[in-house]
Amino acid sequence: MAKMQFKAESKRLLDMMINSIYSQKEIFLRELISNASDAIDKIYYKALTDDSLSFDQSSYYIKVSADKEKRTLTIADTGIGMTKEELENNLGTIAQSGSLAFKSENELKDGHDIIGQFGVGFYSAFMVADAITVTTKTIGASEAYRWHSDGADGYTIEPCEKEEVGTEIILSIKQNTEEDSYDEFLEEYRLKAIIKKYSDFIRYPIKMDSTVS
Ligand code: ADP
Ligand code: MG
Repeated sequence: MAKMQFKAESKRLLDMMINSIYSQKEIFLRELISNASDAIDKIYYKALTDDSLSFDQSSYYIKVSADKEKRTLTIADTGIGMTKEELENNLGTIAQSGSLAFKSENELKDGHDIIGQFGVGFYSAFMVADAITVTTKTIGASEAYRWHSDGADGYTIEPCEKEEVGTEIILSIKQNTEEDSYDEFLEEYRLKAIIKKYSDFIRYPIKMDSTVS
């Protein structure tokens, strides 16, 4: 499978983000949950205008689960999902990230406040993950796709199996280093605290279920 390269600008921004804005790495979870919520909004609005779809509030939720053994943190949603093209366009370039696109590099360099205030998007997950796998199926599609990236150097997309419409993002959480701890992002109490701090206003249920096996 050919490895696609991130656009040059994306790569530079990604490196910068990963290397210079450590202090608030917890905000990656806010970003992924807000994307999940946006995706559910999209299916909700589609249901409003499409009689063949019904929006049953109870089947729309976000689920956060940690597996300490595998060192994975998974954020799943029952939102609208992405086509192959959308995967390519939306996750293939960091500049796609709405709010980050408006920030110049200089602003980002002393960006502690910026990162706290603005959305930095999907790529912020690389602050805590050394690999990310996104499995997604969009509404009305027969095919599902898996996007995988193990860092700044590129990503792959391949067809895969997925039953339900929606998106599942699996983060392979980094190993602790002398300077930085990542284990906390596999702890349910810590994840709950981050969700409470940044995502309290999300109007879909955020379920948790951590596997300790
Ligand atoms: P922004 O949310 O500002 O657009 P992001 O980097 O957070 O930027 O996300 C980029 C795009 O990727 C989103 O606009 C959306 O189209 C797509 N995306 C990300 N996460 C999901 C998801 N869970 N479900 C569907 N689409 C998603
Ligand atoms: Mg976003």
